Amino acid sequence: MTHSLPDSATKAPLLGVDLGGTKLEVAALAPDDGRFLLRERVATPQGGYDDVLAAISDLVARAETTLGVRGLPIGVGIPGCLSPASGVVKGANTTLFNGRPLDRDLAQVLHRPVRVENDANCLAVSEAVDGAGSGARLVFAAILGTGVGAGIAIDGQAWVGAHAIAGEWGHNPAPRLPEDRNMPLPRCWCGRGMCNETMLSGPGFAADHLRHGGADLDARAVVAAARAGDTAAQASLARYVDRLAGALAQVINLLDPDVIVLGGGLSNIAELFDAVPPKWPRHVFSDVVTTPLRPALHGDSSGVRGAAWLWRAQTH
Ligand SMILES: [Zn+2]
Repeated sequence: MTHSLPDSATKAPLLGVDLGGTKLEVAALAPDDGRFLLRERVATPQGGYDDVLAAISDLVARAETTLGVRGLPIGVGIPGCLSPASGVVKGANTTLFNGRPLDRDLAQVLHRPVRVENDANCLAVSEAVDGAGSGARLVFAAILGTGVGAGIAIDGQAWVGAHAIAGEWGHNPAPRLPEDRNMPLPRCWCGRGMCNETMLSGPGFAADHLRHGGADLDARAVVAAARAGDTAAQASLARYVDRLAGALAQVINLLDPDVIVLGGGLSNIAELFDAVPPKWPRHVFSDVVTTPLRPALHGDSSGVRGAAWLWRAQTH
């Protein structure tokens, strides 16, 4: 398989795929400055695993026709990860992929090298390379959305870990607050009790509001109510800030990141970035805490950008 680009292979576009439970996106980045050369997003087929492989194959073929190249290696971001022990996907909330050797299956269908990486690791890589953590050596990036995931990038590369679970902070125990006393505390779907995901995801935030006597609203509506002066919603947002601050303080004590980046739908809550860091000194074992907390610069494009950057080292 050869490139048909007139330039050397070092100038070849970087091709990434973000494979989510509901959306499937392909993008090509210019290797020198990271600008989008193309991007296309479709709904993830809901029929079965082979349909997903075929949809990725179609997207990649169309992208390469547009770019005038063939056989580019691709990076793929997925929920979950490839288990180093078994070589198959584990931990994906889109259970269709679990138990499948996705990297090998895609390499066979696409006839090219494929790298598969956890989607939160892709966020961390994207933001470390040219996003909110650009220039930082260690970036911790968390996705606060329908679930909670997180990833670590060191020098712009995903830190995967011995079990490919590095950064899986979503399933650490959530900090307990005085307000939780005498409350029926939720258990996480993973079976480990009250995980960060249980409290810091959008559904978790909404459930906490309801549990403390608030109205049955989704997370976005709770935030809107807080901004409009609703005291119950303001209290819920304050609890969310306290929980997030405590949970991130544990990360600072463990990794001491240069930058913490938040992505996912709840990273649109602008108040978090001013309210959370002042709460860290109480929890962090340091005389000063200056860790920047920033929203993802590339927003929901960071998944596909990080997937494309997975081949960066080979093309520079
Ligand atoms: Zn859990």
